[in-house]
Amino acid sequence: MELKPIVLPGVDHLQRPVIITGPCSAESEAQVMETAYSIAAKGIKIFRAGIWKPRTKPGGFEGVGEIGLQWLKRVKKETGMFVATEVATRDHVFEALNADVDLFWIGARTTVNPFAVQEIADSLKGMDIPVLIKNPVNPDLELWIGAIERIYGAGIRRIGVIHRGFSSYDKKIYRNLPLWHIPIELRRRMPALPIFCDPSHIGGKRELIAPLSQQAMDLSFDGLMIESHCNPDSAWSDKDQQITPDVLDYVLNLLVIRNEVQTTENLSELRRQIDHIDEQLLELLSKRMRISREIGVYKKEHNMPVLQSPRYSEILEKRSRMGETMELNPDFIKNILKEIHEESVRQQMIIMGNEK
Ligand code: PEP
Ligand code: MN
Repeated sequence: MELKPIVLPGVDHLQRPVIITGPCSAESEAQVMETAYSIAAKGIKIFRAGIWKPRTKPGGFEGVGEIGLQWLKRVKKETGMFVATEVATRDHVFEALNADVDLFWIGARTTVNPFAVQEIADSLKGMDIPVLIKNPVNPDLELWIGAIERIYGAGIRRIGVIHRGFSSYDKKIYRNLPLWHIPIELRRRMPALPIFCDPSHIGGKRELIAPLSQQAMDLSFDGLMIESHCNPDSAWSDKDQQITPDVLDYVLNLLVIRNEVQTTENLSELRRQIDHIDEQLLELLSKRMRISREIGVYKKEHNMPVLQSPRYSEILEKRSRMGETMELNPDFIKNILKEIHEESVRQQMIIMGNEK
């Protein structure tokens, strides 16, 4: 994949974090304009507002629809900001393109559906517009990548993603679990893909926006999409996770942006030590597997079953207790041993001739 950076004139895409902000929903012309003017006054360059809102249940506020696009046009003209909105169908794409929307995003409830993503991709054929793809509501990296590939397949090159957390049945601290390892793995697989974090939808609460934004910066994310509203308490959707432009400015000023390329001498020395230890770990693992295969041969010759449950439980218990005395989390040790045991069993099954 050959992606292009999300270049918008006047927006430095290398200056972390690139900020996209604005209300969850466009509600009225007055609300959109008041929020937009305050945001622009803080030096923000990209304004967001939902025009069509996917709601869990019918009867809620489903967005103002096409009329809101005229308000976004006014935002563009009067504040000079770029404007972004969510598209979920072919009609949304056509209407938003007609209204000169500068950037589209695909919502989490749309990314889950390959038919819907393909419909959007087909209607974007031949266009050159930046598209940000939110993660699907369920923690499925392949589905997320599939959506990226569909949009790429339509010829769109300025693609980015938005990490907005993943749905879970029991909600505790977060509205949507961050499961940071998923966007981290996406970064590993597609290093050129810009990643935005949406702390509003992950946290679901105003007070989580600052710490989640900081975490995203510490994980080298490129940008933030944060919901802001001129009067969050009276917002028609997602009111608990929107902040005023003033609070937004305060949160952004508090962020500490650590420069990832600057490594000190000390750090490279420590990294050398880690490399060496990893090498030793691999050598030990390879030796352990060799012995395990020898045990497999013995079990075969003596007609013994591969799985010896009491021995496995003993290993798990003893090692995790031993680990504790060495400041190692027992669950962590158990997980590692489970993986190692699974591989040992697989190798012994091959010896037994039960598996290829
Ligand atoms: C939104 O950005 O307002 C929205 C509906 O987000 P998500 O698709 O992440 O739920
Ligand atoms: Mn929202």
